[in-house]
Formats: sequence, C-alpha cells, structure tokens
Amino acid sequence: MQVIKYPSREDWATILARPTFDSTSLFDTVQKVLDDVRSHGDNAVKKYTEQFDKVTLDNIEVSKEEIAEAEKLVSTDLKQAIEMARRNIWKFHSEQQHDLPEIQTSPGVYCWQKAIAIQKVGLYVPGGTAPLFSTVLMLGIPAQIAECNEVVLCTPPNKEGKIHPAVLYAAKVAGVHRIFKIGGTQAIAAMAYGTESVPKVYKIFGPGNQYVTAAKQLVSLKDVAIDMPAGPSEVEVIIDETANPAFVAADLLSQAEHGVDSQSILITVSERQVEPVLEQIELQLEQLPRKEFARKALENSKIIVLKTLEEAVEMTNEYAPEHLIISTRYYMGVAANIINAGSVFLGNYTPESAGDYASGTNHTLPTNGYAKAYNGVNLDSYVRKVTFQQITQEGLTNLSNAIILMAENEELMAHSNAVKVRLNEEKPVEERY
Ligand code: NAD
Repeated sequence: MQVIKYPSREDWATILARPTFDSTSLFDTVQKVLDDVRSHGDNAVKKYTEQFDKVTLDNIEVSKEEIAEAEKLVSTDLKQAIEMARRNIWKFHSEQQHDLPEIQTSPGVYCWQKAIAIQKVGLYVPGGTAPLFSTVLMLGIPAQIAECNEVVLCTPPNKEGKIHPAVLYAAKVAGVHRIFKIGGTQAIAAMAYGTESVPKVYKIFGPGNQYVTAAKQLVSLKDVAIDMPAGPSEVEVIIDETANPAFVAADLLSQAEHGVDSQSILITVSERQVEPVLEQIELQLEQLPRKEFARKALENSKIIVLKTLEEAVEMTNEYAPEHLIISTRYYMGVAANIINAGSVFLGNYTPESAGDYASGTNHTLPTNGYAKAYNGVNLDSYVRKVTFQQITQEGLTNLSNAIILMAENEELMAHSNAVKVRLNEEKPVEERY
C-alpha cells in the first residue's frame, strides 16, 4: 500500500482517483455483446457463456431438481446463518415501507401517494470469482417485501455448468421465481431485452465487475431501469490513535479480497498507526486463500496521513466511498459531518462484514464516487410512488385562478381550457366517494 503523508489539497483529486481501465474499449466490447443478444437471443447467450465462462449449456434455466439437490448440499449451520441474515434484512427493509396518507393541500383538493411494486425485476448476482449468495438475499428479500410479481435471477455458471448450491438455496429463501445460468454482459442483455428463455424485466438490480456495470449503464439509456452503478467494491477507514491496528488491517483486507479491481483507503490522523497497520496487513494477508486478489488490490490502495479529523471528513466527502468505517474515539461526532458515503460503520466492533452479511442493511451500494448522488438498494428501489388526486368542484374553483394564469402564461391554452369548461358547468357534478 502506498503511504502518503500530509498531502496538499491540490493533490487530493489525484490521490483519490479510482483504479482506471480503458472505458472506451470496455463500452465497445459490451455494446457488441448487447446487440448480439438483442438480435439472437438464447443462441447468443450460449455463445458468450462458452466464450467467457468456458462452458457449453443446453439449458440455461436452473431446474426444480437442481434447486432441490442444492438444498441438500447446504449444511444446517449455513442454513441457520442464512436464516439469521434473512430475518435481519427483512426486519430492516420492511421498516422502509410507507405510503403517504391522503392530505388536503387546500380545501377540496385531496392528494395521496401509494407505493406500488415494480412488476418484473431482474437480479444480477456476481459469480465470476466468488459465489455471492449474500447478494441473493440483499436483492431478493426487498423484492419479496415489495411483492414484485416476477423476480428473475441471473448468475454465471461454473465450468461444470453449475451454480453454487448456497446461491440456489438463498434464491429459494428469498422467493426468487426463476434462475438462469448466465453471467456478465449477456445476463444484463437477456434481462433487458428478453430472449426465448429469459423474460424481459422492467428494472435490473445488482453489483458486478466492470463489464456488468458498463452493460447496466448502456441498457439503462433506453430499455430498462437500473438500481445504480455498483461496480468494483471499495472501503475507506478513518482512524485515530485509539483504533486497533489488527481490526483496521482486517477491514482493509476484507475489501481487497473481493477482486483485483477493489480499493481500500485508510485515512489516519495518527502517523504512529501506519507501521502497526502495515505489519498487520502483511501478517493477515499470508493467511488468506484469496491473497493473490488482495495483494493486487492493495496495489491500488493507499494509507493517507492527515493532520485533523476535519480534513479527514472533507477528504471522505470528496472521495464518496461505497463503505466507510469510522474507528475514532468520538466516532459519532465524525459521522455527523459525513455527507457522501454508501454505508457507514461506526466504532471498533462494527466491521463492514456485518453489513455485508447479517446486520440487516443492504450491501448493494454505489461505487466509484456515485455515492455523491445515489443511495444503495433499499425497499424504495423496488416500488414506484404513484400519486393520486381527487378534487371537488369547490376545490377546483379555489385553484382555478392560479392554474388558468400559469397555463396562459406558458401559452398552453388547452390546459387553461380544461379548467374553464368545468367552471362553466352549471349542473353540480359528483361529490367525493
Ligand atoms: P461477475 O459475475 O460480475 O462477472 C463475471 C462475468 O464477467 C463472467 O460471467 C463473464 O461473462 C464476464 N467476463 C469476464 N471476463 C470478460 C471479458 N474479458 N469480456 C467480457 N466479459 C467478461 O463476477 P466477478 O468478476 O467476480 O466480479 C464481481 C464484482 O462485483 C467485483 O468487482 C466486486 O467488487 C463487485 N461487488 C460489488 C458490490 C457492490 O455493492 N458494489 C457487492 C458485491 C460485489
């Protein structure tokens, strides 16, 4: 990890830059796959599955038998852990349910708002290098609470053409209706356009690597809605002299092991913490089965020493991390000034892993600085807030001057007329029912 001490403000933007890749060729590659799947459906999906996932599939949909088989392969311990996570995710997300009750904005003018589930949703669960069954829960449970009618899930198959049993089990627990063995761009295209096997959906959710994220962004231009750009994962940790270096190193590594394109940033206001944290990273890294991924990701990662926590907060708001851990003596005070972050973890006993799996909050979060404008997945992501209104004759009379004047000043005479014709009607029309 690169150590940067007391950088000047002009250098902040360069220091905080995410690992880059050539996005022009990325978008070109992805667009070709999207177009091919749009034109050739399942055949194109199968072709790219052979090319990228190195497996030939006759049937891209997971069968009921495969799900039943997977259920037998998941241990009782893991099922209990999944159940605990399910309960907490359900609890936290169902509290987000709210309709706006009917209110009278002025006499006789009644307005209300109802949350209605998006009928067809598509969930993408990454599977290139790790079977992220936790993501199935994070995406499927809010869809279940919202009561989406058709929930489709795509995830890449392994070289034997199978999906990890825990992914299939979690999908059953989360009430997913159909599961397809498709990964990457071809999965996003299949859900955006529909194929002979895969139904077209109205909104696509879920994280993924740079191909998945680019594909979601491209299809969202006109074909389908997306939750947000949720690409390669990142964490930022803010510490002072009170933080435990072993905890800090573990948190930085838990992000780094996601993939070579992940990024971990440590901001410390205590220079004395640098060496102990680096020592702990070396020590813990050696024990990790995914140390090759983590070591590469650490090349993109930085330790930044700053003078004050005020500066640390300012830098954080500029970086807008997907995950932010604050391990300082007065972490609540620091957190109060954070405005740009996907999800915030406070104190020494709140590792990011808690939110990744089981505390109840969602782990599908905006990356790459998008936390400045987007929030993570929540129940609202699965519904539309449809507004309703009903106005009595008296209500419309009260509003009429304002509407007519505004419409005529916008030179929209038909708008104005739609009010005038009603005012001229002598026979009283219906009251409320
Ligand atoms: P993935 O499922 O996203 O990608 C695998 C697919 O990528 C393959 O099926 C293949 O079709 C496609 N692919 C691979 N190489 C390709 C190539 N050369 N050209 C075109 N397509 C190609 O799985 P992954 O690769 O393991 O990545 C998972 C990502 O998800 C990581 O970057 C991780 O950080 C991120 N993640 C983000 C969040 C979040 O909330 N932001 C949460 C979990 C995971």
